[in-house]
Amino acid sequence: MSALNVDGWSDLARGLMFRDNAFIDGEFIPARSGRRFAAVNPATNEVLAEVAACGQEDIDAAVLAARKSFETGSWSGCEPERRKDVLFRLSELILQNLEELSLLDSLSMGKLVRDASSIDVPASSAIFRWYAEAIDKLYGEVAPAPHGNLVTVQREPLGVVGAVVPWNFPLEMATWKLAPALAAGNSVVLKPAEQATLSALRLAELAMEAGLPPGVLNVVPGFGATAGQALGRHMDVDCLVFTGSTAVGKMFLQYSGQSNMKQVWPETGGKSPNIIFADCDDLDTAARMAAQAIFANQGQVCSANSRLLVQRHIKDRFLEKLIGSACAYKPGNPLDPTSTMGALVDARHTKNVMRFIDDGRKTAKLICGGEQVRIGGSDNYVLPTIFDSVSPEDPLAREEIFGPVLAIMSFDTDDQAIALANDSPYGLAASIWTSNLSRAHGVSRRLSVGTVSVNTVDALSPMTPFGGVKQSGFGRDLSLHALDKFTALKTTWIKY
Ligand code: NAP
Ligand code: MG
Repeated sequence: MSALNVDGWSDLARGLMFRDNAFIDGEFIPARSGRRFAAVNPATNEVLAEVAACGQEDIDAAVLAARKSFETGSWSGCEPERRKDVLFRLSELILQNLEELSLLDSLSMGKLVRDASSIDVPASSAIFRWYAEAIDKLYGEVAPAPHGNLVTVQREPLGVVGAVVPWNFPLEMATWKLAPALAAGNSVVLKPAEQATLSALRLAELAMEAGLPPGVLNVVPGFGATAGQALGRHMDVDCLVFTGSTAVGKMFLQYSGQSNMKQVWPETGGKSPNIIFADCDDLDTAARMAAQAIFANQGQVCSANSRLLVQRHIKDRFLEKLIGSACAYKPGNPLDPTSTMGALVDARHTKNVMRFIDDGRKTAKLICGGEQVRIGGSDNYVLPTIFDSVSPEDPLAREEIFGPVLAIMSFDTDDQAIALANDSPYGLAASIWTSNLSRAHGVSRRLSVGTVSVNTVDALSPMTPFGGVKQSGFGRDLSLHALDKFTALKTTWIKY
């Protein structure tokens, strides 16, 4: 956490130096084509930097550098203790550069610098530390075998990992992939989202400073359709880890089938339900957390609880509290630590969110917000918005709007609540509010999601697996389970 005020953050922002080239084989270099794209601050619409737009040749160079580093064993072959030391140092360097990294994410995509500095950046540091600690504590197995045989099962790094990540938590989403991939000994090519590349480029530099050998971590900024696709189709990438939309996740599965059958692990969208039962004994907290679960980060959270299912006979009482809690979220300058809501990522996304809101006015009952706001010369701000009486078929209830828009539905029985909750193509997360332990366990078991939070929202930590079912993707980030994506099991059968 930083003690800076709005003037302090603004002064720091003015003095920032942006890394605007690709990072390949330990060096910052422009794209082979010379192409660049503008990194725009959505909070002001000012251009921050012109960033290298990587294409096929740059991806080839990055994959080659990664492959070379993997084959020489500069990282893949070094002692676990050494990998641990380097990732520990990186974790420290992230904290030492907390204010700069927080600003890079805030300026790039409009999030509150207060959140970046108290959540995103410390969490990224903690995740590198967690995997650093794990590196030299993972043992292989000796399999049962007939007399006269010894069978070992070892985890080996896969080789070259491609990582393609979104813009909503730029540093943290990159970290979720990089920390376990590097801990396991892989070399990585990272493509950040075009809207938020700056922290990833700085992270690559910090990784070198921490002692990561050249070529082990490469960052290739650029567009999805070019740089992302080139990585997805590359014949020498062994594994592609992705976080982003379901539509693009499906493309990566196709790229794999059309190229070298690389492993693909998509972490994709969500439409997570938050179920409020009448026996919840603290409706004030439930209302406050329900607002946080959809309005934090301007609703741009994959596991945001964008559907609220409330038991019918407490609905009016609950909505009154919820609207009160929503009022705490007021768009403002993201660099002002007293602001409670920042800007949406860009004008195109804001327009898309407003289209859902405008259409929603015709099909459901708008009870809060619904307006776009102009701040600091930018229209990329949207008030916290709540629709009541949303039908389960309404796009408000089905589509991942990825903005500060909450859809309210009501139910009478547990069975109805579960049916409504599961009536979604997605299955990332869910929340339940109840003081009845049997109901908590019973409902939790029947929800088709990756994580259920009981009497809280969006619970997660480096120690717990995160990911979904259905069209929220498969595979898990975080925890020791994430290492399954980044290692292959090698069986060695010795007859003696
Ligand atoms: P997105 O549009 O799917 O983009 C994600 C990444 O894929 C970006 O780097 C993007 O590059 C790239 N990409 C886009 N089109 C591509 C293509 N044709 N081929 C290859 N790569 C391509 O998602 P986003 O708008 O950045 O992020 C929001 C989405 O992320 C939401 O759906 C959210 O639910 C999801 N998300 C999921 C999780 C999770 O853990 N399940 C966590 C956070 C976010 P460019 O943008 O640079 O073109
Ligand atoms: Mg994008």
